[in-house]
Amino acid sequence: MDEQLNVAPCGYLSLDDEGAILEINETLLGLLGYNFHEVQGRHINLILPIASRSFYQLYFYPMIRLQNKVEEMYISLKSKTEQDIPILLNAFRNERDGKMFNDCVCVPMKRRYEYEQALLAVKRETDTRNKMKKKQIAELDLLRHELESKQNELLELNKKLQKLAVTDELTDLKNRRSLQENLSLNVTLHSERFQTLSLLLIDIDYFKNINDNFGHMMGDNVLRELGKILKDESRKDDIAARYGGEEFALILPNTNKSEALKIAERIRSRVEKANWDMPNITISIGVATSLSGDTENTLQSRADRALYVSKNRGRNQVTHANDLVHK
Ligand code: GH3
Ligand code: MG
Ligand code: MG
Repeated sequence: MDEQLNVAPCGYLSLDDEGAILEINETLLGLLGYNFHEVQGRHINLILPIASRSFYQLYFYPMIRLQNKVEEMYISLKSKTEQDIPILLNAFRNERDGKMFNDCVCVPMKRRYEYEQALLAVKRETDTRNKMKKKQIAELDLLRHELESKQNELLELNKKLQKLAVTDELTDLKNRRSLQENLSLNVTLHSERFQTLSLLLIDIDYFKNINDNFGHMMGDNVLRELGKILKDESRKDDIAARYGGEEFALILPNTNKSEALKIAERIRSRVEKANWDMPNITISIGVATSLSGDTENTLQSRADRALYVSKNRGRNQVTHANDLVHK
């Protein structure tokens, strides 16, 4: 072998058709860690790891016999210390002096192999991360859904709580606190707009007797029924409330004395005529209509005085505060 080929920057070896190593250059010997005498005449399997041996048998050998060449075959060699050495192999089948030589050039691919391995590792890592990401996104979506439904539940619960806070449980009318708030708000609004509002205070007559004679449950039924009547008689902006045991109120926005009296009389008469399954249920009503400078307290106390007068004059009647005789 000439000296240039012997020390060329690539490995070179020549095989006969049986796979015996005929020639091998210094570069490849150095790569494999053998000296020439250890490999000369030995079968190529000596420097092939097991995986490469079948590759050699099934691919390299038939190919070079058929096409007289093999191009860019990636294969691993095995060093004397059993290390895998990835190489790129090109081979020609040449005839010299009537004998066939399979001349092979081997370019070490260690770096490239390492790069490829690193790339593969990065790809595998990326795949794993992507899978994890998808899983995490799915989990996050699930959590977001749960959160949304919990938030909706909370909103519903808040709505219920808000309603409970302003509602009288027995009659489903507004409760005392809500009555006070609404009255205060309406008095302010009406005074700002120079409008009048009226307030009805309604008290069931001799309600104690109903409880005593027919029982508390029947008493409760009467309270519920009166609640329904008040709701039924209320216009869109009117506010009906139960503010005590058998004491009810109706805020009538934008309503003057005569309109308020008509409404009060209609309610009184409806209660009197209703079929109660028990005798004589009547109500007394006190009415007040707002004056300039009124607060919710002054309006309320005038309606209260009017109610007191309705009771004193024999009950089952309506009195307007403006009609009271002041002593
Ligand atoms: P008046 O005509 O003077 O208003 O007489 P009254 O009996 O209606 O008035 P009084 O204030 O003496 O009695 C009110 C009764 O209302 C006493 C109480 O037992 C009853 N009461 C208060 N709250 C409830 C309730 O939620 N359910 C029932 N069934 N009764 C109640
Ligand atoms: Mg009372
Ligand atoms: Mg009463």
